[in-house]
Amino acid sequence: MKIAGHNWKWSKQLGRRSGLPPFIVVHHQAGTGSTAGIHASHLSRGWRGIGYHYHVRLDGSIHRGRPEWAYGAHAPGANDSIGICFEGNYETQRDMPAAQLAAGRELMADLQRRYPKAKVRGHGDFVPTACPGRYFPLNELLKGGSVALPLVDPGKRALLKQRMLWYALRNDLSLKDVAGMLRSFAYASGASALALPEEGRTLAESRLRAWESAARAAFLDAYRQTVANSRSHLVPESDEAFARALRAWELDKALYEVAYEARNRPTWLAIPLAALTPA
Ligand SMILES: [Zn+2]
Repeated sequence: MKIAGHNWKWSKQLGRRSGLPPFIVVHHQAGTGSTAGIHASHLSRGWRGIGYHYHVRLDGSIHRGRPEWAYGAHAPGANDSIGICFEGNYETQRDMPAAQLAAGRELMADLQRRYPKAKVRGHGDFVPTACPGRYFPLNELLKGGSVALPLVDPGKRALLKQRMLWYALRNDLSLKDVAGMLRSFAYASGASALALPEEGRTLAESRLRAWESAARAAFLDAYRQTVANSRSHLVPESDEAFARALRAWELDKALYEVAYEARNRPTWLAIPLAALTPA
């Protein structure tokens, strides 16, 4: 595997991660362009420079962003993890070019070999964003490695999104209600996991988590689309402010749930507690 190195000039010294990366987080670029272009754009946002550790281009070339020992700047809550950006827009582009897929597989397999405990996740698992896109071929990428993640297939996801859009349109939801809805997805998946027999629970749990994150993404997409169309200023417009406000409401709800479960249903306490500790 060939990795192109670059002599990036950082605006400030990079921070060193203290332990091993807990996650490998995949992104799409939501467009095309060079690694140098990403570096410049991240500098202009006031970051130290390119926030990803790797950039996998459509032509199959792999470029180094930050060194692996450094903190990234690619997903709030997961910047102690390795961030990989795939050129292209996998929200609209259905197929990954063979060269990019092959390079991505090699890179993922190598990282998984060197960081066997790191879990593979998408950007959207940490903050409400469409990244890495509904058509991002995560299962395909992981076939070269040891773990294949169950993902909700695009057909089902489209159906889910349609249902969510319908729901958001018919209910005048504030951000607090949205947080409540997201918490009920967490409960649906958490309670189902608790109901399963001990053995085989791990695999089922990862499927349930994939369902939960697909439901979240579909619901948030539909909600934000509805709000944007209605031009009501119910919620912050910028992605970051939206994510932050939503996170606050989700925490608020989860704290209430912790108190409730501790009093009434201690066997379910793990469900809201999971929302308070970063995965
Ligand atoms: Zn991303």
